[in-house]
Amino acid sequence: MSLSDEDVLKIVSKLKKSLEQENHSLSEDLLKQLEKFTPTTERLKKTKVGVFLTNEVRKHEKANENVKNLAKDLVNQWKKDIQAPSPAHPVKAEKPEKIEKKSLLKVDVEKKPAPLKRAPTEPSIPATPASATDDTRTVKSDGVRPKYPGDGVRDKCLDLLYKAMASNTTEDSQRVLKVAEQVEQYTYQSFDQVGEPYKARIRTEVMNLQNKTHPELRMKVLSGEITAKDFAVMPVEEMASKERQDEIAAEKKKAAHDAVVGKPVQQTTDMFLCGRCKQRKCTYFQMQTRSADEPMTTFVTCTYCGHKWKFC
Ligand SMILES: [Zn+2]
Repeated sequence: MSLSDEDVLKIVSKLKKSLEQENHSLSEDLLKQLEKFTPTTERLKKTKVGVFLTNEVRKHEKANENVKNLAKDLVNQWKKDIQAPSPAHPVKAEKPEKIEKKSLLKVDVEKKPAPLKRAPTEPSIPATPASATDDTRTVKSDGVRPKYPGDGVRDKCLDLLYKAMASNTTEDSQRVLKVAEQVEQYTYQSFDQVGEPYKARIRTEVMNLQNKTHPELRMKVLSGEITAKDFAVMPVEEMASKERQDEIAAEKKKAAHDAVVGKPVQQTTDMFLCGRCKQRKCTYFQMQTRSADEPMTTFVTCTYCGHKWKFC
């Protein structure tokens, strides 16, 4: 049985009393009851139970270590729960269940994506010359002949995928073509129709594949380290560069932190010079965005012009 908001509020009010009365075993017992609470951002905001545990229980002068630790563990668990994508709160636009079912049904397309190992003898159509490196390479300019799905939009998307993966590389055109065909096919499968969601997904794939600041993604897809099938359902945030992924993770972590224990206390200071307006009117807070043994990240906001930055 999970707890309703009312249950939580009742426990909180009992806990206030038991702490005052130094009834440690009752306090512990009440905290253990809170383990059944299923946190969501809304519920935490409504009940303020995370804020209560952080600001009152953990700092209570009459609470013993056990009680404080229980409160701390709860808060940490809730932060994790909130960050973890659960089926009830999907983070991405895709519908993984649907894709899964689809790929279970359509075994036919599944079986053959041949291993993408560079075949030593790939006869017939000549590989694209290396001189084409920093050029735009297209299906036409490379003279490859895709197996077009036969739908105008899908055919065009295949061309775009090819161009995104081949341009500015010396990759073998046949290999690029094979991967592009597979990516298109798997992407189509997860929508099963040529609508806006399919097109939007292809656009995202193309954009990330041709991102010059992050060529690793394309390399991994072309080498088969990321299979076409996985790439076709890869969450957008995982396509991003390592740096961007770290940023996204930090933002998520901060949001979870805020949700559980409330916004961090903003401190005003003249320590920082705003790079944009050159004023020294800033607020800042610090938090651990990475592993515990790394330095805290400081988030600064200029109260004068609104400029935000952060540093470690
Ligand atoms: Zn400023």
